[in-house]
Amino acid sequence: MKTYTCIICDQPKPDGIMICSEFICDACESEMVQTDVLDAKYPFFIHRMNKIWYKMNA
Ligand SMILES: [Zn+2]
Repeated sequence: MKTYTCIICDQPKPDGIMICSEFICDACESEMVQTDVLDAKYPFFIHRMNKIWYKMNA
């Protein structure tokens, strides 16, 4: 089965979504959706997502 490396958890996963040619696995995608702004993990997600924004503006 083909897998992609998730940019959030850096794990190879078969299921997930592609955003601007970057892959986010189902687990991270659902976790991001549920992550509150006040959650301690939020800055971590923003940091990882910056990789995508950087590519978009490149
Ligand atoms: Zn992931």
